Amino acid sequence: MRTIVHIDMDAFFASVEQLDRPELRGKPVVVGGDPFKGRNVVSSASYEARAYGIHAAMPTRHAYRLCPRATFLKGRFARYEQFSRRIFEIMLKFSPAVEPASIDEAFVDLTGTEKLFGDPIETAKKIKEEIKVNVNLPVSVGVAPNKLLAKIASEEMKPDGFFVIKENEIRSFLDPKPLSIIPGIGPKLSEQLAGLGFVLIRDVLKYSLKEFVKTLGGSGREIYQLVQGIDDRPVKPPEERKQISQERTFDSDISDFGLLKWKLLLLCDRIAERLLKRQIVGRTITLKVKFSDMKSITRSETIDFPTRSNKLIYDIAEKLLINVQRRNIRLLGISISNLVPSVDWSSQLFSVDSKSEDLVKLMLDIREKHGYDRIVRAFEITKKRR
Ligand SMILES: [Mg+2]
Repeated sequence: MRTIVHIDMDAFFASVEQLDRPELRGKPVVVGGDPFKGRNVVSSASYEARAYGIHAAMPTRHAYRLCPRATFLKGRFARYEQFSRRIFEIMLKFSPAVEPASIDEAFVDLTGTEKLFGDPIETAKKIKEEIKVNVNLPVSVGVAPNKLLAKIASEEMKPDGFFVIKENEIRSFLDPKPLSIIPGIGPKLSEQLAGLGFVLIRDVLKYSLKEFVKTLGGSGREIYQLVQGIDDRPVKPPEERKQISQERTFDSDISDFGLLKWKLLLLCDRIAERLLKRQIVGRTITLKVKFSDMKSITRSETIDFPTRSNKLIYDIAEKLLINVQRRNIRLLGISISNLVPSVDWSSQLFSVDSKSEDLVKLMLDIREKHGYDRIVRAFEITKKRR
């Protein structure tokens, strides 16, 4: 049997701000930007702010209406990263199998660590204690036989929680719970399920898999597996990836700036697709230019918040290209580094341009299903026709 731990920092960004600024402790703090400018959304709210009904993903404008006296902060990603690194270092002391799920969340596989550290549940407690003592931030910890249940367990007693689901307690724990506690069953799906009479987990398990799939259709199988608490996914340490790059050597050298911009856009599209596919975001964008005489240069810019937006990456790359000497160019390359994992909620902080992200998603989908050439930028077609 495995012992999997889910570590989830409580109101991470807001907690870091409260730690750095003692005058904010015990007070409502909202990280997510100016409520009066643009369309900012809450990326983290302190528990004091949550008491007013403020939660992540809510427009900060709305959060302001709920609690005008809250302190609204823009967020300091580099600072959060520092804390994140320290927290991950603590986990890695207890097991090499640490899988970051986001900047403030990870799975740790403690299976087989008994000889070194003793009872894995005690080890999980130690991890929580070390984070509290050494980093001074609140964290919730869930322990269970798999990732799905460990994640549910860490939610159970938030904040500052510690909760264990043992193998022989899975049914008694899950059966009376609402379906919405299952990660992957979002508000929309739970509503749909409730409409069919499925509110609690035991409502589903009254039926056989066959009967349930008949009622619900294709997605029934997956839901049925989830509500049983079955999850065989291993805890996978991330592959060490320092950067993602994409470059293109031209058939003949190009000096036309307009054409170079289009080529650049294609490279940025590909970078954005690969970031999206791997669920990562990056902060440093580097342009590489090789001239016709084979001399090459690179130019970089680091932004405050990590991104995977093709538009933002392109805007920066274009700016870098504008400042490059106008000569015949043989090769263009773009790379992005300073990479961190992203999950959907955290993209709120990254000021993702949802329009450009939708486009990248669509292109990636089509290309994965039907091949790379099935979708191209319009100018590539007009160019060929010319
Ligand atoms: Mg968290």
